[in-house]
Amino acid sequence: MPDTIIALATPPGTSALAVLRLSGPDSFSLTSQLTPVASASQSHRCYYQTLKYEGDLIDEVMITYFHGPRSYTGEDTVEITCHGNPLIIQRILQTYLKLGARMSLPGEFTQRAFLNGKLDLTQAESVIDVIEATTLEALRGAHAILEGALGQRMQTLRIRLIDLLAHLEAYIDFPDEDIKPETGQQFIDSVRLTLNEVHELISSAPLGKILREGVATVIIGSPNVGKSSLFNALLRSERAIVSPIPGTTRDLIETACNVGGFHLRLIDTAGQRTTEDMVESEGVKRALHALSQADLILYLVDASQPRISDSFQPPEPLPHQHFISVAHKSDLGVHPDHHQKIAVSSKTGEGLKQLEESIRQKLNGGRDLEKQGWLTINARQEAALSHAEEALLRSLNALMKSDPPELASIHLREALQSIGEVVGLATNEDILDALFSKFCIGK
Ligand code: GDP
Repeated sequence: MPDTIIALATPPGTSALAVLRLSGPDSFSLTSQLTPVASASQSHRCYYQTLKYEGDLIDEVMITYFHGPRSYTGEDTVEITCHGNPLIIQRILQTYLKLGARMSLPGEFTQRAFLNGKLDLTQAESVIDVIEATTLEALRGAHAILEGALGQRMQTLRIRLIDLLAHLEAYIDFPDEDIKPETGQQFIDSVRLTLNEVHELISSAPLGKILREGVATVIIGSPNVGKSSLFNALLRSERAIVSPIPGTTRDLIETACNVGGFHLRLIDTAGQRTTEDMVESEGVKRALHALSQADLILYLVDASQPRISDSFQPPEPLPHQHFISVAHKSDLGVHPDHHQKIAVSSKTGEGLKQLEESIRQKLNGGRDLEKQGWLTINARQEAALSHAEEALLRSLNALMKSDPPELASIHLREALQSIGEVVGLATNEDILDALFSKFCIGK
């Protein structure tokens, strides 16, 4: 029998209201010791009640009862909305703990929902993405997965693989039955189609990472090229100090802003030059470190000056890094050396829209996300699908080389298993504990 767990579901501290949540077999019986309605409650109904313990008033509250399995966790669940005073919250928690409930672990409500079959693992994982999404687009993607879009795609792939395996194994068992040549080709085509679909999902992983974690964006270039001004222009605020004195920005300044549906963690850096000043040279060192960690690099040059006059040579971007060259201060004119770059003036605002559009295009990899949706996978799902991809490839090779069909069958089974792992079939306890421990308490 599982424990009955309790947690505060709203942020700690003082607020107008706070919500505590209880789940488990004793949720109603424990609550009935504080208020008489619990045992006679109807599911999904909210009751105005007075919570009392040993004759002492705790608070006037609203309580909603969810009778399992029609609840988030699938178990009997109680939600208590009380006044948002930490003293009241503490008293309710302590009283329930005294009566026999225990504090929930991070993500334990969602873990129970998964174990009770209310959500598959992709849906359970998306709950945290829904809570933490920082742009509307990231939220849209998380909602789509919570509604089952990724789980359904996995299910389609699994059904196809099960069908293929059934055919292959029938052939292994009855090798003398005549198989038409076109059946063999259809079989190969179907494995190839599955492989392509898995590959397409894997290719959404980098986009998923930046949608979930934000985009580390570094603005880099010579001193005085206008990095802080562009930083402020993108933020539409005066966050970084702008001055005509080279070397003004000595440390990294980081602020978040949303551009084209992406959450940019925008980092203004010290201008890159050789300097005797210890503080400034530390700033330059930090800038280079930030550069190596960046997802997106905005490289600024002075638009009006020929390329040769700029002593700063940007390092080669790493394979996963996006790189955009900006001809800055374009209001002062654009030298022909920079006609390929995006011309931007932080002073007049010229080119800012194009820069934002270019950032959006780079980050979404040229996909039309309005049409294709924002369905992306996370790192765990990517690892499982990469296994599936390798196994499908081995299976396809075995079929093309006319190896014994048993070989192709073994690889197809492996692919089926890996695809099952995405939705949480045959996932071991350690993986689940690690996954749900990333959640907040109360979810
Ligand atoms: P940083 O050292 O690269 O961070 O450069 P700043 O943002 O501090 O700007 C250096 C100087 O260039 C300041 O005097 C700014 O007013 C000026 N500046 C910045 N952006 C523009 C621009 O778009 N056009 C013009 N004409 N001047 C600019």
